[in-house]
Amino acid sequence: MTKGVLLLSGGLDSSLAGLILRRMGIPLVALHLESPFGCDSMAETMAREIDVPLVVRPKGEAFLDLLARPKYGYGSAMNPCIDCRIHMFALGKAFMEEVGASFLVTGEVVGQRPMSQKKRAIEAIDADSGMEGRVLRPLSAKLLPETYPEKEGIVDRNRLFGWAGRSRKPQLALARRLGLSILPSPAGGCLLTDSHFKERVGDFVAIDWEGKSRAPVASLLRYGRHFRFDEGEWVIVGRDQSDNRHLENHIRSSGVAFRPDGFDGPLVCILTSETEISSRMGELATGALHAFGGGKVPSGPLTVTVLSASGERPFTLPPLTPDRSHLMTRDTWLPLWRR
Ligand code: SF4
Repeated sequence: MTKGVLLLSGGLDSSLAGLILRRMGIPLVALHLESPFGCDSMAETMAREIDVPLVVRPKGEAFLDLLARPKYGYGSAMNPCIDCRIHMFALGKAFMEEVGASFLVTGEVVGQRPMSQKKRAIEAIDADSGMEGRVLRPLSAKLLPETYPEKEGIVDRNRLFGWAGRSRKPQLALARRLGLSILPSPAGGCLLTDSHFKERVGDFVAIDWEGKSRAPVASLLRYGRHFRFDEGEWVIVGRDQSDNRHLENHIRSSGVAFRPDGFDGPLVCILTSETEISSRMGELATGALHAFGGGKVPSGPLTVTVLSASGERPFTLPPLTPDRSHLMTRDTWLPLWRR
């Protein structure tokens, strides 16, 4: 039987779109496209809940290219929603061919999001991704031209909806009626729509990474406090054990980390392609350990473990000279904080 590919963010709308078609007996495969920024997603839970097999793929480096120069610009933060959807639809199209599906299903609702869900934007997204007539939006289908699965009688248009606008009430009512036992947030929790994340992403896309894979750095952006020095140095300081753990697991392909040995303090990371510790890197690490160590960092040389692409090794950070002692105060760091 002809099947569809459900683009599943893990939010309520895409889950409902899938459930509506499942209730019609339409076979679906869910595709979740993972953000390189590690956005929270309930895709696995919701795929189980609506009983659809799930495949997870990365949005990939091409997504980071479009993020730097989106043809259709950004939304209220660093969210290039129209370009992002074109990219996801193009990946969805390739996946459809792979699994022998003939149409794509999304949870979009006309007029729900200011940028990508206006009727004209929807048309542009379908045309630019080469998916005209092949994208079924069950929640708003009755407001949109008939699509391939409706024309072919694969999907009964009468059982689809004609919702528009930002109200979530119809979705919540339908979710209850269809017996959805988990009600995730409406969308997928995309970090790029978060204004607090904007400065870091702006810095990230402004840097020339000289052909290196950027996804490992992207995965670090949501953890820790990030500081940028005028010289371009980028320092990340873990805020808690959870930050420290994540940074420690992921920093090695993008930089070096300094882990306190024998005293309490944060993990301090520096983005760099060097594995040798320069005196400047040592100064920054010492300064950050004191500034964010909660007064528990001893004076004198500091024993740390350095983590880098070449492994782990013990290292001693010498005390800062008086002309560098300002690095040990929060007043030096806080103006450089990229939120
Ligand atoms: S909210 Fe995020 S994931 Fe969704 S379309 Fe916009 S940029 Fe893409």
